[in-house]
Amino acid sequence: MEGGSAAPEELPEIITNKDEMRKWSRAMRCRGKTIALVPTMGYLHQGHLSLVEKAQSLADVVVVSIYVNPGQFSPSEDLSTYPSDFHGDIRKLGSVSGCRRVDAVFHPHNLYDYGNIGRKGERDIVEELSEEREKGPPASGVSSCVEEMGAGHETWVKVERLERGLCGMSRPVFFRGVATVVTKLFNIVDPDMAVFGKKDYQQWRVIQRMVRDLDFGVRIVGCDITREQDGLAMSSRNVRLSPEDRGKALSISRSLFQAKSLVERGQTTNCSDLRGTLVQAISGAGGKIDYVEIVDQESLETLGEVDRPVVICIAAWFGNVRLIDNIEISG
Ligand code: AMP
Repeated sequence: MEGGSAAPEELPEIITNKDEMRKWSRAMRCRGKTIALVPTMGYLHQGHLSLVEKAQSLADVVVVSIYVNPGQFSPSEDLSTYPSDFHGDIRKLGSVSGCRRVDAVFHPHNLYDYGNIGRKGERDIVEELSEEREKGPPASGVSSCVEEMGAGHETWVKVERLERGLCGMSRPVFFRGVATVVTKLFNIVDPDMAVFGKKDYQQWRVIQRMVRDLDFGVRIVGCDITREQDGLAMSSRNVRLSPEDRGKALSISRSLFQAKSLVERGQTTNCSDLRGTLVQAISGAGGKIDYVEIVDQESLETLGEVDRPVVICIAAWFGNVRLIDNIEISG
């Protein structure tokens, strides 16, 4: 019933408290149900809903988390302007493409508030924050909005090598924040499986590796990218593109399709040539390139030749919106 008004009994259960979420999952397990988790930051679109449909096909019950994670944003990034429409999201999850509704939505207010902020006076916090700022970033040299908030959180999960390249170059706290919040969600929701989009290819690989390395009992499922009819990869951030930039941003998907076709038609396997074509197409359309990389699908290592399954990954700015996209080529 997308866009319309769903009857209350068709809406998912909304859980905002960690303990309630744990209780809900335990109750489901006691009833012998398998649980799939779909982590999101909300402002849901068809890409998210395709993950939900996949989750519904794999597990008895589905939990969608909606949480804009301050741990993966640096203080200079767009945490405060990240789009949100919680009521719209709940309506969309009430009935996914005519399938059964999502069973529960986990929507915590703040996963990093351990009560340490609430007990202090506002003045103490303001003073502490300005002291923190004077001290500069922590010893690791990176700092997220969680540190900026003065939250008493100091445990982070890092997938050392896989998180370094691609998005990790320009967003040094991003994957540390993602791996940590996904760990938290796994500990709270205790799912059998979790569904991620390959739109965030590096994120999907980082989570797969984290689950393997740390022995989480969660199966990680990857879903293909959902695109608009004209090819633009769906993203919650697309809404912030001006109509003009939205048009220019099509250069990303178009150049990816073109590169794939060049390889598949045997016209080139040289990564430097391919990269040059992609950079030219996107810069020529007015995009500011963050990176264009042709990497091994599993190790994400940069390659010289397309001699194995590769993925071409792109991040580029159009106006003040940073977009990412990618395409797999079987090689
Ligand atoms: P986000 O809300 O942007 O953090 O995304 C939540 C999940 O949805 C992540 O696993 C994303 O990779 C996935 N996702 C976002 N956009 C798309 C898309 N266009 N196609 C498939 N998955 C997507």
